[in-house]
Amino acid sequence: MLRALVRPSSFPTRSLLFSHSRLRLRTMATANTPDFNKPLYTPLAELDPEVKNIIDKETWRQFTGLELIASENLTSLAAMEANGSMLTNKYSEGLPNARYYGGNEYIDELEILCRKRALQAFNLDPAKWGVNVQPYSGSTANFAALTALIQPQDRLMGLGLPDGGHLTHGYYTAKKKMTASSIYFQSLPYALSPESQLIDYEGLAASAKIFKPKLIICGASAYPRDWDYATLKKTAEKEGAWLMADIAHTSGLVAAQTLNSPFEYCDVVTTTTHKTLRGPRAGLIFFRKDLKDAADLEKRINDAVFPACQGGPHNNTIAAIATALLQAAQPSFRDYAKQVIANARTLAETLVGHGYKLQTGGTDNHLVLWDLRPIGLTGSKVEKVCDLMGITINKNAVSGDASAQVPGGIRLGTSAITSRNMLEADVKVVGDFLHRAVQLSLVLQKEAGTKLLKDFVRVATVQEEGKEGFAKVRALREEVSAFATKWPLPGVDVSALTKPAGIHD
Ligand SMILES: *Cc1c(COP(=O)(O)O)cnc(C)c1O
Repeated sequence: MLRALVRPSSFPTRSLLFSHSRLRLRTMATANTPDFNKPLYTPLAELDPEVKNIIDKETWRQFTGLELIASENLTSLAAMEANGSMLTNKYSEGLPNARYYGGNEYIDELEILCRKRALQAFNLDPAKWGVNVQPYSGSTANFAALTALIQPQDRLMGLGLPDGGHLTHGYYTAKKKMTASSIYFQSLPYALSPESQLIDYEGLAASAKIFKPKLIICGASAYPRDWDYATLKKTAEKEGAWLMADIAHTSGLVAAQTLNSPFEYCDVVTTTTHKTLRGPRAGLIFFRKDLKDAADLEKRINDAVFPACQGGPHNNTIAAIATALLQAAQPSFRDYAKQVIANARTLAETLVGHGYKLQTGGTDNHLVLWDLRPIGLTGSKVEKVCDLMGITINKNAVSGDASAQVPGGIRLGTSAITSRNMLEADVKVVGDFLHRAVQLSLVLQKEAGTKLLKDFVRVATVQEEGKEGFAKVRALREEVSAFATKWPLPGVDVSALTKPAGIHD
């Protein structure tokens, strides 16, 4: 019965084995149940076939395609069960043992457990580090951290967006302050060295000497190499700035000790929980407890999350984070992280083997930045062709791009395909698909007759006389689907999956 009660509503009907429990649930709405409460017991498929069908279509898309978006991953059945649980009903503003509402006995137990597991997963000494597990996402974790560390209009520095940084690290354009991190604070980006395409630590130190930031943020969304935290710490110390690492992309690899640890040198570390860490969509903020004014930092972080930036914690999500962290602390997760990196290296080698250019020539982590400019293509065109083939990637700026509007590259990541069990030999197949996608993009660009994206999309999606690109896209789509459907999809019994109505072919 309990299993029926925690059944996540977000699974396709046939994917899990709950059908007779569902029947039990329905009989719970008895003759005494007033009409206004009957919907509370009706399964999604019956109550809302429209939403159910959308979920089924999305499940089918994930099953039949290849997910290479570097920020995505496939979370576990256990995390999805926790996320779809009764915990979603509970308000618990405040912290364990200091809540604004009653009834939080078990929620306190959960949050304390989640915090303990977060420290364990990252090998942190509870005397030296604390953690707030309530942030709704990476962006809110970052804004809460900024709120805690610096005052409105104080200066901060982060890696520029076109160089792989994140929006929340102070991004602005000539015309517009784009994010809260540049609206409420004064920000200055640092950059990559154009020659090495690595972080220009010397340039950062020189800018910081003049700009005098109160906070330096490191970490990125599109940087294929590891970070030199010791050097960053020297600069931060010299200028009297806080050093914060946002390891949203790489936290799973950091937990698995396959990358440098930011915890040795940083004051605060933020992360998402749904990228390489493979949990539900949320964020974490770690803070040092061994500084001079440590109690003050802990209070500032906690107050910044609630009440400054958020309301009630999402306890269902915190349960899912806890169960993801339990997994991340196992030796098997280390094997997963190593495989993610081995797969990214194989992908990089496969593409270089076909003669393509990668930013920095390769990778140390889960992602690859592919510079398409030498072959005369844009990221948008290749993203479009891949989408039509069932391979999900994203266009991305590459170092030296003239225009942010027309990114010259794409970003690829191996976290999700590794979660579908793919190993090096399989990744070579994926790399060859990408090679064919790019060669096909060149054919389509020729057939489009112009360099415009809209003409490119037209020849890729409509059969025109005497042109062969469209049919080739369709054929590749079939091949990708035949390959992708050989692999399992966590949380779903794929042997029972059937194609839902309304799929766009
Ligand atoms: C993804 C990401 C974020 C934002 O996370 P959301 O959960 O999407 O809000 C923040 N920082 C970095 C470096 C990221 O890659």
